[in-house]
Amino acid sequence: MNALHQKCAVCGRFTTEFNYSVLSCNSCKIFFRRLIVRTVPIKKCFRGERCFEKTPYIFKCTSCRFQKCLYVGMTLPSYLLVLEQNKEQRLAITIDCVRNTHNKRMDSLFNFFVTEMNPNVDDIVELNKITYTKRDEHIRMDFQTWAFHSCVTTIDFMKQFPFVNLLRSTDQMILLKESYVKLGALISATRAYSSKKQCISFPDGTDCLPKTQWTVPKISPNLENRIRCRVIDKLRELNIQNDEFYLLSVLLFCNPAITNLSENGQLLLTSYQKMYSSALLYYCLLTYQKSGPSRFSELLGLFTLLGQHYDDIIHYYVLMQLNQSEVELKKLVKDGIEAAYKS
Ligand SMILES: [Zn+2]
Ligand SMILES: [Zn+2]
Repeated sequence: MNALHQKCAVCGRFTTEFNYSVLSCNSCKIFFRRLIVRTVPIKKCFRGERCFEKTPYIFKCTSCRFQKCLYVGMTLPSYLLVLEQNKEQRLAITIDCVRNTHNKRMDSLFNFFVTEMNPNVDDIVELNKITYTKRDEHIRMDFQTWAFHSCVTTIDFMKQFPFVNLLRSTDQMILLKESYVKLGALISATRAYSSKKQCISFPDGTDCLPKTQWTVPKISPNLENRIRCRVIDKLRELNIQNDEFYLLSVLLFCNPAITNLSENGQLLLTSYQKMYSSALLYYCLLTYQKSGPSRFSELLGLFTLLGQHYDDIIHYYVLMQLNQSEVELKKLVKDGIEAAYKS
């Protein structure tokens, strides 16, 4: 290679090094390494996300510099993937990290509440930090408040993952909107399954469907029962283990196939998806040996069922509206359901 052309693919500085599969300088290497594990949102670009299109580059823009790293093909280092040496240790770290985030969400859902009255999804996603207030025992929780809090804590949960915070804000919004109702369902179904319940309910036992005012039922009990039980039945059939649930819960939204994501968004999610799916596959191989690969695909099959569950919820919601139900859902809950057909 001609020495004159040995330029960092990200910033254009002279370099002869390859980092993260790309010809890049030491400073861009350190920058990328710092960013891929970061759990705090990065500042939005206020210059139209074009700081790295033309020289001279404006290095101060973290968002554009990171997007450029992805664009030129930087990939996650192998130590983050459960592929090479120290596999078991890497797997344990990955699972621990997800478990802690789940425990934090559970604590927020069970013991705290959000004072914001009736925010929509954009309000919640744009908050840098969601503020919780300790919940007094006297605060009455009904279907409305539980459904709302379940959505808030699920969005907050997803925002604790580096790859969510590294997405451009439009991609982040698409991913969160598409996922929080499904993820909330997976989490509450797993909680119900672990405590040997037959139906999905909120922490104090409140039904996962609202009470309607009709004396004659206007929605088929079959549909209602499917919403309450189908995911739990599947989890029971699979005899799902905690560690499998943890990894699946991330793979549900670490999904480059979500429609309308930018090319960079897809690249980023593909890298992290590889990280979590290699962890799940390795877990299956360790635990089930020869039948590991078939267990792995069985587990991923759960996502198809969650898609059907989501369709049932939409169906239920439409029927409520057609029958002019008096149940007034909070904006955030509506947004999560309507995301399926309004995007
Ligand atoms: Zn550079
Ligand atoms: Zn910028």
